[in-house]
Amino acid sequence: MKRTKVIDALQRTDYGSDITVMGWVRSKRGSKGIFFIALNDGSTIKNVQIVGDEANFSAEMLKQITTGACLSVDGKLVESPAAGQASEVQATRIEVLGTCGNDYPMQKKGQTFEYMRQHAHMRLRTNTFGAVMRIRHNMAMAIHTYFHEHGYFYFHTPLITASDAEGAGQMFQVTTKNLYDLKKNEEGHIIYDDDFFGKMTSLTVSGQLEGELGATALGAIYTFGPTFRAENSNTPRHLAEFWMIEPEVAFIDLDDLMDLEEDFIKYCVRWALNNCKDDLEFLNKMVDKGLIARLEGVLKEEFVRLDYTKGIEILQQAIKDGRKFEFPCNWGDDLASEHERFLVEEYFRKPVIMTHYPKKIKAFYMKIDEKNPVFDGREMEPTVQGTDVLFPQIGEIIGGSVREESYDKLMGEIEERNIPMKDMWWYLDTRRFGSCPHGGFGLGFERLILFVTGMQNIRDVIPFPRTPKNAEF
Ligand code: ATP
Ligand code: MN
Repeated sequence: MKRTKVIDALQRTDYGSDITVMGWVRSKRGSKGIFFIALNDGSTIKNVQIVGDEANFSAEMLKQITTGACLSVDGKLVESPAAGQASEVQATRIEVLGTCGNDYPMQKKGQTFEYMRQHAHMRLRTNTFGAVMRIRHNMAMAIHTYFHEHGYFYFHTPLITASDAEGAGQMFQVTTKNLYDLKKNEEGHIIYDDDFFGKMTSLTVSGQLEGELGATALGAIYTFGPTFRAENSNTPRHLAEFWMIEPEVAFIDLDDLMDLEEDFIKYCVRWALNNCKDDLEFLNKMVDKGLIARLEGVLKEEFVRLDYTKGIEILQQAIKDGRKFEFPCNWGDDLASEHERFLVEEYFRKPVIMTHYPKKIKAFYMKIDEKNPVFDGREMEPTVQGTDVLFPQIGEIIGGSVREESYDKLMGEIEERNIPMKDMWWYLDTRRFGSCPHGGFGLGFERLILFVTGMQNIRDVIPFPRTPKNAEF
């Protein structure tokens, strides 16, 4: 099919040339026998204007040109007299490739995001979702480019896993068993010997453990794939199926890790500003007036590097000064998102990398700090070299850590926490055979997209969201 994409048509200046454009009708209006159609083909947020004289076209065909209909238009490229667009198409022939009934769900402007979620299969055709999806693509390209240019290898970890060390209780099981006829042993436990893999398996909650095997062989790897969490948290920040980027690197310490986290996020944000200008301007106008300023702000700021213990001190001082929070925040508590956002949005007003969390609120594989912190004049429990990157509007965008490389210390944690390790011998081998200092992090792809688009709900930055009680489309 001979066709010029709208994005290219708008840049062409060879006025007078023949051109064919195809796309979906955004709107059509007429005045004094002349019609104007705004046509969009998804290649850009911008529409190309199609102009024609009604007298030259069949009335029946013109009637079919309604919002949402799909057209193929032949015509001449001409310089546009209208403001805000260089060129337009003077139509000589229009073919309606697909008519669109007036029950088209994306007919009206200004529909709520909730309404659009209920019609998520068609919302991709709207300006907002087009912009979000193009930015999403761009962020994926930025991520691959960043790691490729920095010598990381794209490493594929399995989606089906037999280990439940990380995700106890929040994993989706994978089975070919007949659920209507489950065999159980004498203790009432399901027998998996005859299941597909001969053992209980689930969808992965993270590729990190296998990623560590990659990093301790290839030096530096990253994963970029879907992960699954059956956590029943109906929040605007959680999906049951989301994409995660997990770099893992040998021979780095905590400072190197934080440098990587900061450099990487800034690279992605800069990429968006450089490559997604039209879409960002649209979102800045229609969705979030502070968006572009916030993105530029992140590039200018150095991220704050904040000890957890110091963070608790700041929060407790704020409470003494009259700031109210819904949840408590004593030393040892996991921070709630209101605490994270207070630190980022009110106290520092810039991104914060928080470190040295109490060991008991973090995962078993994090490297234990040598010295225990002192809080309120007292020595506290051990802390670990975990790093959460906290962002304005989002809260936690990255969770990472230096990994415990000592076999004995790692085993100590595993035993203390009663983690089922019988299927995890392969992971422990990283610490038995040439163990090395290493670390990495997990970035939730959709949390990054939330930040970069200014969208408010994580369900609106993935084409087909999966959340509790929702697997439509
Ligand atoms: P949270 O405390 O926000 O639930 P987490 O501590 O469980 O996150 P990690 O296990 O550290 O998250 O996962 C790494 C990153 O993956 C997080 O920083 C976040 O960006 C993202 N993430 C985690 N859970 C989800 C989810 N259910 N939906 C979307 N992104 C998620
Ligand atoms: Mn985390």
